[in-house]
Amino acid sequence: MRFAHLTEPRQLQIETAPDPTPTEGQVVVEIDSCGVGGSDRQAWEAGAVSAPAWFGHEWTGRVVAVGGGVTNRFEGQRVVAGVSSSCGVCAPCRVGRTQNCRTVLEQIVGLDPLSATHGGFATHTVADARRVVPILDAISFRDAALIEPAAVAAHAIARSGLRFGDVVVVVGSGTVGLLTSELARLAGAARVVSVDTSAARNELACDLGADAAFTSVEESLHHWLADTTNGVGADVVFACVDTAEALTSGLSLVSSGGTIVAVGVGDRIDNLSITALLSREADFRISLGYSADDLRRVQALMEQDRLRVRPLLQKSAGLDELQTVFEMGARKTPGPPKVLITR
Ligand SMILES: [Zn+2]
Repeated sequence: MRFAHLTEPRQLQIETAPDPTPTEGQVVVEIDSCGVGGSDRQAWEAGAVSAPAWFGHEWTGRVVAVGGGVTNRFEGQRVVAGVSSSCGVCAPCRVGRTQNCRTVLEQIVGLDPLSATHGGFATHTVADARRVVPILDAISFRDAALIEPAAVAAHAIARSGLRFGDVVVVVGSGTVGLLTSELARLAGAARVVSVDTSAARNELACDLGADAAFTSVEESLHHWLADTTNGVGADVVFACVDTAEALTSGLSLVSSGGTIVAVGVGDRIDNLSITALLSREADFRISLGYSADDLRRVQALMEQDRLRVRPLLQKSAGLDELQTVFEMGARKTPGPPKVLITR
């Protein structure tokens, strides 16, 4: 088997190792593709990653070997990297906060005991059988590559408390931002507005159902919102860009009693001021990861072709082209946001 290994900042190598064999509770998956995400770019820039399995975590593939004790996964099954249901034994689970299960979070970030020693930029990987989720028959492998990011977006919608008829602003039209915009519409938003510096991304957001798009949180967006909402503002703002600037600009758009959700934020918002929310008694919420139920619901929408993911796919590249893909940087090209790495 072959897998990508970060060696130093902005440098990776493709290494060779014996084909993996599953231990108790594991499956071996032959990778079909692995999406390149924002956290992968950060890891490549840094030359290090918090957990090896986190570098390339949006993978799909086919089960090719099953370890002892595994009864619900079988050879030949098409699967996507996801999470198990809550574990029932971690501290949050023990007090009934199963939605905050620590084991589930560890699975997402590659810190669970059965995770692989590398990520999904590989020909094969191993994983805890409980966290590999079968792909519904009607969903192609190519589309299934967007199940994991779609679950991240679905979780953000759930965290927001979005109600039908709400006016929604999504700051950032990367993969998760575009999917959040689509899901907000499906969840009953009356208006969805996208904000991204890229005109091409704004066009894509509108193609996927956004009512309007702006290149920044400029005066014209404030005017648009004021006109559209009789001066009330946005009921829900999703900040899908990992910068303090994006969050700060989003804060200015939230209505009195509204909500801003920070989606998948990293550690780069140290100096965030939420003063703008105080006089409006607005909520600031964090959306972190996703649940098995989020995965189930996005697959149900994709199966019916109601959540359209294909327009988000830019191109596929081979494992040997991964270094070049990072060097090019998807954000510098005007096309759709998601690049898939195939084995
Ligand atoms: Zn738990």
